[in-house]
Amino acid sequence: MSEPVLPGATLGVLGSGQLGRMFAIAARRLGYRVHVFSPDDDTPTGQVADLEIQSAYDDLDAVAKFAEQVEVVTFEFENVPSATIDAVSRYAPVYPAGNVLHTSQQRLREKTFLSSIGIAVTPFHPIQSADDISSLSDEDFPAILKTAAWGYDGKGQVKVATRADIESAWDEIDRQEAILERFVDFECELSVVGARGRDGSVQTYEPIINSHSNHILDLSVTSGDLSPALAEEAKKMTRTILEELDVVGVMCVEFFLSTDGRLLVNELAPRPHNSGHLTIDAHATCQFEQQVRAVCGLPLGAPTQLRPAAMANLLGDLWEAGEPNWAAALAMDDVKLHLYGKKEARAGRKMGHLTALADTAEEAAKKAKAARQALLAKEPQTA
Ligand code: AMP
Repeated sequence: MSEPVLPGATLGVLGSGQLGRMFAIAARRLGYRVHVFSPDDDTPTGQVADLEIQSAYDDLDAVAKFAEQVEVVTFEFENVPSATIDAVSRYAPVYPAGNVLHTSQQRLREKTFLSSIGIAVTPFHPIQSADDISSLSDEDFPAILKTAAWGYDGKGQVKVATRADIESAWDEIDRQEAILERFVDFECELSVVGARGRDGSVQTYEPIINSHSNHILDLSVTSGDLSPALAEEAKKMTRTILEELDVVGVMCVEFFLSTDGRLLVNELAPRPHNSGHLTIDAHATCQFEQQVRAVCGLPLGAPTQLRPAAMANLLGDLWEAGEPNWAAALAMDDVKLHLYGKKEARAGRKMGHLTALADTAEEAAKKAKAARQALLAKEPQTA
């Protein structure tokens, strides 16, 4: 195993959104320098990095120059082209490695891999040809048709109520390679963030319960009333996936808890996850510090929860009637505001989040929602 990359060294990050920003903040707190590479400038990550490099991912000379100047590289979104990762790998190690990206970039590969290691997933069929469509039966519906690649936050997804609707649904996504997933009746959605070090050590956070609005994560809450047996099972499945995929870094596993009590994996994210943002304020080691520790070959931190917490996403829609009333939310006890430095607030765009801490998960959820609602108050409120 190679030597650890110690504080003072320079870390590289591919991608420049809010996940890179929070990674860079954690890295700088630990005394590292951070260089970020992406096609954009004045980005959420670039604003807090030591160096922001603006270049296309397929400009492999620029990629090589970036990689030469850093000790280790990680990424903050999984759709970095594999040629970019290969070019980086010639100069600096990349964690998680290319095989992890390859598997998690494409839903069909991801689900096939998970099934092959005995992990339960949502029932699915590959849709690659007209034959695949004609072999479907009525029992496969209602379902969701998802493009195999490049999907996030519900993009490239079409609900398909019955077999009769499948042709038009496939047309809607331009007959791209896709998977058809049986619609799962679920009790709740949950996620487990895990980290694996270069030495193979694994740490997993307790499950986080998630609710979505318009396919975008809305609220994440520490798992107050999930049964301990289910929490253990979800963590065990996460550990198995990290080990079998040989992940070095952070990975989030998203699950459905079906109404008949089974944990089914929906998808993997080979990086810190929106649902893990509450670990910044509520846990002994946050998911971003864990990512720094894992990719640098340092011991992982304890994922201990210090207090129950809830996180509410702040989407661009909140800006519709003007600047949100920050003072109103900040006046509330134990509410923490995180903004990502994005200049233009568009509907559905993740602009920031609020984390609320309380004595129970239920109270924290209430407080997070109240704090977000307070942002729309006309006059500043006092506590
Ligand atoms: P995804 O992009 O696959 O994470 O899907 C976004 C959201 O759509 C999920 O978090 C669920 O709320 C919903 N969803 C996706 N797939 C299914 C499914 N097979 N059954 C029920 N709901 C789903």
